[in-house]
Amino acid sequence: MRLPQRFLTLHAAPVRRASSVPVVSFVPACSTADTHSLELLQDFVSRASRLFVISGAGLSTESGIPDYRSEGVGLYARTDRRPMQHAEFVRSAKSRQRYWARNFVGWPQFSSRRPNSAHEALQQWERRGKLHWLVTQNVDALHSKAGQKRLTELHGCAHRVLCLGCGAISAREELQTQFVALNPDWTAQTGGVAPDGDVFIDDDQVLNFRVPSCESCGGILKPEVTFFGDTVNKATVQFVHDRLGESDAVLVVGSSLQVYSGYRFLLAAGDRKMSVAIVNIGSTRADHLAELKVSGRCGEVLSVIQPL
Ligand SMILES: [Zn+2]
Repeated sequence: MRLPQRFLTLHAAPVRRASSVPVVSFVPACSTADTHSLELLQDFVSRASRLFVISGAGLSTESGIPDYRSEGVGLYARTDRRPMQHAEFVRSAKSRQRYWARNFVGWPQFSSRRPNSAHEALQQWERRGKLHWLVTQNVDALHSKAGQKRLTELHGCAHRVLCLGCGAISAREELQTQFVALNPDWTAQTGGVAPDGDVFIDDDQVLNFRVPSCESCGGILKPEVTFFGDTVNKATVQFVHDRLGESDAVLVVGSSLQVYSGYRFLLAAGDRKMSVAIVNIGSTRADHLAELKVSGRCGEVLSVIQPL
C-alpha cells in the first residue's frame, strides 16, 4: 500500500542522541497525552501492587530505533523491506551473508543506542517494588542497559549470537571483531537502521562479505533473536505465564501487540480478569481487553507517573 505523502514526513527533532550525528526521529506523530488520561493511568498504577509490564518497539523509537508498524515512520511504511524469516536464514547461505553484511554495517550505531526516559521510569518502578515483571518484545538490550533485572527478553537479544550447531552463545561484539578481521577492505554505504539492527545496502556490496562459522563446531551463527516464522521457546513462555499469574495488573507500553507471541499474555490476562491498561500511539490488538488506553509517547507518559 502506498501512503499519502503527509504520512511520510519524518520529524527532524531527535529525542536523544548516542553521538553528535543528528538522528531522524522514528516516533509517530502524536499529540501530548491529556491530563485526564494521565490521572487515570496514575490511578491504575497506584492500585496495582505487582504490575506486569509488556513493552514493544514503541518504547525504543524514542531512542532512535525505528519500529516496523507505526504509521508513516515504521519500517513497513517507509520501505519495501520486510524482516528476515527464520526458515530463509537457516536455508540460504546467501540470505545469511546479506543479513550479516547489513547487520555488520548497522551494528556500531544500533549497539550504541541508549535507554530513554521510558526505560528509566520502568527501572525505577522495579526498584521501588511496583513492577513485578517486565516482558519485552524488543531485542535492542535497552531495558538491560537501563539496569532492569526482573526482565524477560521474549524474542531474545541482538547483542547475543547463537550457534545453530552446538547452541553456544557468544557476544555480538566479539563477532564484530571477527567480521572486521575477515573483511579488512570491505566497505558499504549505509541507508538507515531497522529494529533488528539491519541496514540497507546493495546486493553487489554483499557478495564479497565473509561470514565466519562457529569456532567450536563450524555451525551457522545467528543472532540470538526470534526471527519471524520462528516460535518462542516453550519454557520461556511458561516462565512468563507464571510471572503473569503472580501479578495483579497488566500494563502494555509501546506495542500494537500484532504478534501473537506477546498478545497471548493479554489473552491470558483477559481469562484471569486482570486489569489492563495500554500506553501506545495508535490502536492495538488488545484494545478490547483494556480498561484504560492512553495515547502518547511512552517516555513522556511514564516519566510523569509515580510508582506509589
Ligand atoms: Zn557451534
